[in-house]
Amino acid sequence: MDVDNHAEELASALGVDKQEVKEDLESLLQYSVPLDEAKQSIRRKHGDGDGGDAAQPESVALSEITTGLNNVTVTVRVLTVGTRTIQYQGEEQTIREGRFGDETGTISYTAWQDFGFEAGDSLVVGNAGVREWEGNPELNLGSSTSVAMAEEPVETAAQIGGDSDLIDLSPGDRGRNIEVQIQEVDSRTIDGRNGETEILSGVVADETARLPFTDWNPHPEVDVGASCRIEDVYVREYRGSPSINLSEFSSVTTLSEPVAVADSAPRLTLGEAVDSGGLFDVEVVGNVLEVRDGSGLIERCPECGRAIQNDQCRVHGAVDGEDDLRIKAILDDGTATVTAIIGAELTESIYGGDVADAKEAARDAMDKEVVADTIRDELVGGSYRVRGSLSIDEYGANLTVEAFEPADDEPAERAAAVLREVRG
Ligand SMILES: [Zn+2]
Repeated sequence: MDVDNHAEELASALGVDKQEVKEDLESLLQYSVPLDEAKQSIRRKHGDGDGGDAAQPESVALSEITTGLNNVTVTVRVLTVGTRTIQYQGEEQTIREGRFGDETGTISYTAWQDFGFEAGDSLVVGNAGVREWEGNPELNLGSSTSVAMAEEPVETAAQIGGDSDLIDLSPGDRGRNIEVQIQEVDSRTIDGRNGETEILSGVVADETARLPFTDWNPHPEVDVGASCRIEDVYVREYRGSPSINLSEFSSVTTLSEPVAVADSAPRLTLGEAVDSGGLFDVEVVGNVLEVRDGSGLIERCPECGRAIQNDQCRVHGAVDGEDDLRIKAILDDGTATVTAIIGAELTESIYGGDVADAKEAARDAMDKEVVADTIRDELVGGSYRVRGSLSIDEYGANLTVEAFEPADDEPAERAAAVLREVRG
């Protein structure tokens, strides 16, 4: 039986025009929809949903997909498509990954073969597997998955295409496009899965943020000071903040117009910063509530630099500790609390002395804690503008401080801003 006969049979069963049915059928078959599914889809279009064999399952709304489901059919808009090579069961495999959207939400997907769809396409994806990925459901498109063009464009509130500002990127994003200025580049040799490989790492910036990057397949356009459009990057977490990754599939184009770059880090409330899940470079203003234990004059393992107590490193055992200065301060602005970790150099200026001065004070008092106490007297209760890199882990939010200075804002104005934030 050829398409013509199938169309005739369907048309007479449905009581509709044969030419229309034939055109629909042909276009579905062109997208490799199995014949039975194609016929079923045409029956549904003409309001005859219960007729026939091998009924295709109803599309599930993306908001209703949970990791408890095994296989689903979805009708979606392709938001992003990224390409990446991974090691899978000992073999190198090229996969496509990104996000789909519909009226109810978005979901990430991994396609284990090239179905040929692009950002903006509207698709009916049949028999997609559901798996859990970093705590969220994700669709898996494999050899038993069917992909067909949807009859109508799928509505979605989500942005179509991967163009992104740096501030909006989160770990797990794939297939994103950015326009950035390359601010720092270092070349390194690593022991990769194919032997020694040269990679580039550094910092990129746009008007919204600065982020670290790694180029796993060095592109010659990636050079200090260059402004570039980089297509198809993916985002991973590095030390608690998003990090941009370029692969062999990323394309880099040098832009003739320089990309504008923010002079300062984005200024956020602590609540916003913590909600973002980690930021490479952020400015916050808060009050120091407490200077925690482990501040002041401390000792570090000479092997790994971890803070140690009683000359015992939890990795290297008994070691000869090296003296150092640091501060772990609890910072609060009414919206959230973070631990600000202040290194030796800034601690010296806050304390008003170096390691030798601190040791002398500790010896005189026969108590190391006097150093931390001096720092407490200086900081606790004060309001500070702090810039650094925020990372979130299971123990809380840590801000590795790059700059720390008294806030010169009017306290009343800031209190009002915090109250606005709290009241929403
Ligand atoms: Zn150690």
